[in-house]
Amino acid sequence: MAGLSGRGTKWRLHAVVPRSAANGPGTRCVIWSQGCGLGCPGCFNPETHTTRGEGLVRTVGEVADQVLADAARLEGVTLTGGEPLEQPAAVAAFCAEVKARSGLGVIVLTGFHRAEIEGDPARSAAVADADLVIAGRYNARLHLAQGLRGSSNKEYWVRTGRYTAADLSRVPELEITIADDATVTFTGMHAPGGEF
Ligand code: SF4
Repeated sequence: MAGLSGRGTKWRLHAVVPRSAANGPGTRCVIWSQGCGLGCPGCFNPETHTTRGEGLVRTVGEVADQVLADAARLEGVTLTGGEPLEQPAAVAAFCAEVKARSGLGVIVLTGFHRAEIEGDPARSAAVADADLVIAGRYNARLHLAQGLRGSSNKEYWVRTGRYTAADLSRVPELEITIADDATVTFTGMHAPGGEF
């Protein structure tokens, strides 16, 4: 655990959904990072690729405080993208703070393969506090969109006993949220842009 020294780390984000039932077991806060250079053919989230003039920039501490203020109503947090592990210092600091200050579970969805994570100290540190990592490039020929996997080649890297593949098989594939201002949000693996 990296401690709480990274609260001031800048984090480039695409969106934060405070509560979702379609991005992992239970009710979860979902954080989409902004920026991905992996270039999987057929990616459903091209708007999350650029790092120029897109998204919002917040500090890790700001995001952590937002999530932890709602912790009593959450099972956990899901980090997705974009590519979360292209900002490994922010992800490491955030996950460390969540684990230090709450009992929330952490799931990380990444396009990096497990070997690419284990072979890189910064990426390894970023997933050190994750309960589950879903790893590997999206492969359109192996399209799946179930169990938080956009394609069947993506690997469940179970790091603690908190979540199992059976838990993920029960996750709804689509969620539609209508906010007080009538804004409609689609999330989940069958949402527009939801496949990773
Ligand atoms: S599927 Fe994920 S890792 Fe691949 S290009 Fe799209 S955002 Fe990046």
